[in-house]
Amino acid sequence: MRFEQVLKNEPAYRIRQARGAIFQKLISDWSQATNMPKNLRDILNEKCPLEIDAEIFKSKDKKTVKALMRLADGEKIECVLMRYEDREEKNRNTVCVSTQIGCALGCTFCATGKMGFKRNLTEEEIINQILFFSRKIGDGGKITNVVFMGMGEPFLNYENVISAIKYLNDKSTMGLGMRRFSISTAGIPEGIKRFADENIEVNLALSLHAPNDELRSKLMPINKKYPINEVLHSLQYYQNKTRRKIMFEYIMIDRVNDSDFCANQLAGISKKFICAVNLIPYNTTGIFRASPADRIKSFRGILEQRGVETIQRFSFGKDIKAACGQLAGEK
Ligand code: SAH
Ligand code: SF4
Repeated sequence: MRFEQVLKNEPAYRIRQARGAIFQKLISDWSQATNMPKNLRDILNEKCPLEIDAEIFKSKDKKTVKALMRLADGEKIECVLMRYEDREEKNRNTVCVSTQIGCALGCTFCATGKMGFKRNLTEEEIINQILFFSRKIGDGGKITNVVFMGMGEPFLNYENVISAIKYLNDKSTMGLGMRRFSISTAGIPEGIKRFADENIEVNLALSLHAPNDELRSKLMPINKKYPINEVLHSLQYYQNKTRRKIMFEYIMIDRVNDSDFCANQLAGISKKFICAVNLIPYNTTGIFRASPADRIKSFRGILEQRGVETIQRFSFGKDIKAACGQLAGEK
C-alpha cells in the first residue's frame, strides 16, 4: 500500500511531511521521520515499509551503477545510474528506468525483448527506481535526469509512466522539471498522440533503427502492426502540437542498417521533422554485430551533408551489462 493511501484521513500536511522525509531527507525507515507521531510511524512501517531491495553492480570506471531490484512478488527488474559531467551542467546524474518486466515487442536485437512480457510495473515501482538512486547518491548530488529507456515499452504502460512523471515533478516530492524526463518508444501511435495531448514538456525519442518497412519489420516485429508511415504521422501530430524537437534513435548494426542507402532514406525521413538523429553503437546481445567505426563515420557524414543534426553518445556500463538493450533482469 502507498503511504498516501495510509495517510488519506490524516490532516493534509501529513502527506507533505511524509513526502519531504522520503524525497528530501531520503529516509529509508519511517522511524527517521521524527516530525511525525510515533504511532503513525509504526503503522507506516508496517503497511508501507520504505526499504528497497536491490543488488548493485558498479562498472570499472565507477560511472555506471546497475541495480537489480527485487519486487514484492519476487520478480526482478534492472535500472541504471549514469554519472557524468557535461558541458552545460556539471554532475549530471541520469537514471535509466524500466517500465515493464520484460517486453512484449520482441525486437530481435534487444535482450529485454528475448525475455517476453511478464507484467507492467506499478507507478510506485517506477518511482522507487529513481528513489533508490537518490538514496544511493545521498549527499553526493541529486538525480538530474530520468530516461525511460530501460526494460519495456513505456507507452504500453502509459498511465503509470505518466503519473510517475507527474508525481516526481511535483514540488512536494522531487520537483524534477518536466524537461528532465525523456521517453523512448518503439512507436505506438495511440501512445504518441495521447502523449502529445498531455501538454507536458517531456522529451520524446523514437526507436527508428531502420528507414524502410521491409528492414524495420525484420528488426522490430511491432512495425508490421504499426508501419513507419503511421508512426511518423503520429509524430507529426506530436510535433505540430508541442513544437518540441524529436530524437530518432538509430542503432548501428553491421551490414544490416548501416549502408549509404539507409543513410539517405533516413535523411529523407528526418528532413520532415525538427529532430536529431542519435547514432547508437550496437551492444552485442545475440545474432548481430556492431558497425565498424569508419562505417558509422560515413553514415553520419551523409546525414550531416544533408543537414540532419546527428549525435553519437558514449555508451555506458557495457562491462556490467548495463548498456542500452542489455537489461534482462537476471544475474
Ligand atoms: N522500449 C523502448 C524503450 C526501451 S529500449 C524502445 O524500444 O524505445 C531503449 C533503447 O535501447 C531503444 O532505442 C532500443 O532500441 C535500444 N536498444 C535495444 N537493444 C539495444 C542494443 N542491443 N544495443 C543498443 N541499443 C539497444
Ligand atoms: Fe521492447 Fe524496446 Fe527492447 Fe524493443 S527495444 S524489445 S520495444 S524494450
